[in-house]
Amino acid sequence: MTDTGFGVLRRDGRTDAFFDGAAAGRLMIKRCADCDRWFAPDASGCADCGGTDLVWTRAGGAATLVSWAVSHARPRDDGSATPPPALLALVELAEGPWLHTRLDRVAAGLLREGLPLVAAFEHPGEGEAYLVFHPAPGEEPADAHRGL
Ligand SMILES: [Zn+2]
Repeated sequence: MTDTGFGVLRRDGRTDAFFDGAAAGRLMIKRCADCDRWFAPDASGCADCGGTDLVWTRAGGAATLVSWAVSHARPRDDGSATPPPALLALVELAEGPWLHTRLDRVAAGLLREGLPLVAAFEHPGEGEAYLVFHPAPGEEPADAHRGL
């Protein structure tokens, strides 16, 4: 995977539980044991009460779109097909934290601030499972599944 510079999470020791959860199809984020506020997987302390006891907790997976950017892949040197552009997004989870993530199955015409999303997990044949967000049911255009 190319480095997009967009801040998509990577496994780095602090985020192992997030990636282990992704492999099992669970969205794991952190929750403050002292004040019950939720935080992103890479948070190291509670910004609210100053607590340092953040507990990995499963989130519901609902989110809304905050902003997005299209990341175009570089053409391949060997002349093979250029990978499709990736849609990178900042989303707000229903629990409150914001996440940098990827969007999938979103038609360009559907993109708008506040678009309801649901978490899903991609399991590539090689490499780590990763989090993506899809439009929430009811937000998909009628032809979204054409060709499947
Ligand atoms: Zn707290």
